[in-house]
Amino acid sequence: MFEHVLKIMRSCPCGRRHTLLTEECVVSPDAEREMRDYLRSKGWTDPLIIADDNTVKFAPRLADLFPAKVETVDGHAHATEVWCARVGETVDRERPDVLIACGSGSVHDITRYVAHERGIPFVSYPTAASVDGFVSGVAAMTWHGQKLTFPASPPAASFANPAVFASAPARLTASGVGDVLGKYTSLFDWRVGQILTGEYLCEELVSLEAEAIDALVDALENRETIGREAYCEKVMNALQISGLAIQLSGNSRPASGAEHHMSHLWEMHRLNETNDGLHGEQVAVGLLAVSRVYHRALADGPDYGRIAAIDPAKVMDRAALEPVFRDLTDGILRENLPDGTPASSSLTKIRLTDDTDRLLHEAERALPSSGEIERLLKLAGTPTTPDEIGLDASPEFLAESLRYAPYVRDRLTLLKVLAAAERSAD
Ligand SMILES: [Zn+2]
Ligand SMILES: [Zn+2]
Repeated sequence: MFEHVLKIMRSCPCGRRHTLLTEECVVSPDAEREMRDYLRSKGWTDPLIIADDNTVKFAPRLADLFPAKVETVDGHAHATEVWCARVGETVDRERPDVLIACGSGSVHDITRYVAHERGIPFVSYPTAASVDGFVSGVAAMTWHGQKLTFPASPPAASFANPAVFASAPARLTASGVGDVLGKYTSLFDWRVGQILTGEYLCEELVSLEAEAIDALVDALENRETIGREAYCEKVMNALQISGLAIQLSGNSRPASGAEHHMSHLWEMHRLNETNDGLHGEQVAVGLLAVSRVYHRALADGPDYGRIAAIDPAKVMDRAALEPVFRDLTDGILRENLPDGTPASSSLTKIRLTDDTDRLLHEAERALPSSGEIERLLKLAGTPTTPDEIGLDASPEFLAESLRYAPYVRDRLTLLKVLAAAERSAD
C-alpha cells in the first residue's frame, strides 16, 4: 500500500499533482532507532517530546536513544486553547528545534497546532491505532468550547512501533477500526458527488482507500490466527494510509462523508448533552445508520422529482436551523453558503441525467450491505448504536441526527441530498 502512495505521488492518471509533506511513514519494531537516524539526517539535535499522563511512559524509549526534554499534558485534556497555550510557553522557554508528539489524537493535535504556530517541525510517534489523523494536515480542536478544525502542518515524519501501540487499551484500537470502516460511506459519498454534481474524483485515491479497508477487513477476519500485535499493526497501517490519502488529496474528501458529519454533530452537542464516544466509535455508529439510509433509499428508488426540486434557500432557512444550532447558526450558514447566497450551496450543482439512477446503483455495489457492516463493527468490538456511546436511544433522536448532520459541512453527500429533498418538499 505504501508503494501505491509513492506511485500516486510520482504521477497520477487524474492529471492532478498530489503532494506529500511527510517524508517518512514507518511502522516497525525499530521505529525509535529510525526516528533517531531521521532526526540526525535533518540536523535536529534538541527535540521536545509532548506526551500525556498515559503515554509519558513511552518517552524513555526515545529519550534513551537521543537527548530530549519531555512536556506532559493532562491525560484527559482535549486539544484546547488552554493546553496549546501551556505547551506554547514551554516551547518559548526551551526553544527546541523539533517537537515529537508521543501519544494519541489529542497529543498530536496540540503538538501540530503549536508546531505550526511557532513555525517549527514536528515528528509523530503514535501510541495507539485509534485515528487516521496522525499524518494529516489539520488539527481538530475544541476552541473556547467550539469544535473547530485549524490548518496545521502535517508531521515531517511518523514512526510507530507495534510493541507500543498494541499495548494500548483494546477500545482505542476498535475505535481506529471504526474510523477506517467509515471510509465505506466516505468513498460512496465522494462517488455521489461525482455522479450528481460532476465533482472531481481521483480513482487512484479511491482505490488506495479501498485497499486500506480491504487489508483491515482481512486482518479483522483473521485476528485470532495472526495475533494481537500483528492485528494492531495492520490497523495502524490502514490508518496511516488513510491519513496519507488525505494529504495527497489536499482535503479530507476521501476519508470523511456523512458518517463523519454525524460524529461532528454529536460533538457539537446541539441535539445531545452527553457524548461518551471516541472519534472512531462515533464514526462507527454514524456509518451503520447512514448505510441503512442509503441502501433503503436506493432499494425504494430515490425520488428524483423531489431531488430536482431542491430549493437551497428553503433548506438553509435560518428560522428552521436556529432552534437546533442556536449560537452556532451563523457559522453553519457560513459553511453551507460560502458566498452568503443560496447559489453558492453545493446543492445547486446537482444535475440529473438519464444515467443518474444507473450510476448510483452501480456505486452502491462498492458499499457493503448494512448487515455486513454491522457484522464487521461487532467483530471489531466497536459500538453500533447511539445509546452505547451515551446518546439518546430513541428512533426520533437518530432521525433528527440524520436530518441535521448534513448541515455540519457544505460537502455533498447522499444524506445531504435526501435531507434537502425532504425539507424542500415540506
Ligand atoms: Zn489523482
Ligand atoms: Zn475520522
